[in-house]
Amino acid sequence: MLSKINLIQGIIESNFRRLSSPYKATFAVTYRCNLKCKICKVWDNSPPAEFTLGEIGKIFKNFKRLGWIDLTGGEVTLRGDIIDVINVISRNARNLCVFHISTNGRRPEIAVLMAKEVLKAGLLPVINVSVDGPRELNDRLRGVEGAFHSSLETFKKLRSSAPQGHYYLSCTLSRSNIQYVDEMIVELKREIPGFSFSDLHFNLFHASSHYYKNHEIEGEDKIDPVAVMKYLSLSKKGSRVKIFLENQYLKGMSKFLSEDKFPVPCQALNATCFIAPSGRVYACGIFDEPIGELREHDYDINRIWDHPRALMARKSIKQRQCPGCWSPCEAYPAIFGQVMRPVQECLGVKFK
Ligand code: SF4
Ligand code: SF4
Repeated sequence: MLSKINLIQGIIESNFRRLSSPYKATFAVTYRCNLKCKICKVWDNSPPAEFTLGEIGKIFKNFKRLGWIDLTGGEVTLRGDIIDVINVISRNARNLCVFHISTNGRRPEIAVLMAKEVLKAGLLPVINVSVDGPRELNDRLRGVEGAFHSSLETFKKLRSSAPQGHYYLSCTLSRSNIQYVDEMIVELKREIPGFSFSDLHFNLFHASSHYYKNHEIEGEDKIDPVAVMKYLSLSKKGSRVKIFLENQYLKGMSKFLSEDKFPVPCQALNATCFIAPSGRVYACGIFDEPIGELREHDYDINRIWDHPRALMARKSIKQRQCPGCWSPCEAYPAIFGQVMRPVQECLGVKFK
């Protein structure tokens, strides 16, 4: 309960001012991957050295306000000690509430163990399993035969083995798959008993030189904004927060695709940050402007958060000199960062 209050406090405060420490962090635990996606080149690069469990413990002990973590990769399950990683983070980040994990679904048993470990810590697991099209297209786009099958297996196993968690199939929209989304939904409904649109989560292709290393890929972001609007309001099941977020995200996606800029003020370095496997900290997974190395700052995010490099990056973001994006990792906190807008307008005061 207290951790929930802490998270809500962080969200509300982010509407008015910069937080003294982030309430949300995206942590890429590894850049190793067992798929070879066409739209991402993480798998095609030498992975950097990763943090040890001891280092992870030190880092998260210093995240005093952290209420929400996104654990991502690469493929998180390729870390042989991923269950220990989850355990160490949950024990050290004392105010954690939401534990979000992304997986490509190649290792169903480990995905279930991850969900159980999060539940054991008394936290809410939210796990996204990626799928990028109907079977044949998915496996072609993801570079490995059987990827579609294993994603569905993972999703089904999670639901049956750890039903208290929240699980979604997550589709990254790109020029390569946008016209096949309806076909994919039909196939998912056929293959997964009880599957509905509300079990699907959309993401959007983005290029990033420091994260996905896919900045040389051209044209995948060319999606007709109208094509995504037909999915608006189809998400009907689940909590009101989830339905609100999905719909606002789709609305924002359409706007972003039309105008090519972040539709609402971004919360990166105001309330959130991104940590690469080597310990380099960025505003987000897109903006290639490192603000510090955790190993050089005694594993203390607070020393980096107030560093002059962070101040400079913050200024660039405010002046919209970053690349701009609508990645859910940052779009969701940005949507939350606007919920108090009616109050601000009512008071006639601009707080930040
Ligand atoms: S998109 Fe995910 S699963 Fe695909 S190569 Fe990149 S990290 Fe791996
Ligand atoms: S708008 Fe996108 S690229 Fe710019 S700082 Fe925010 S999350 Fe990063």
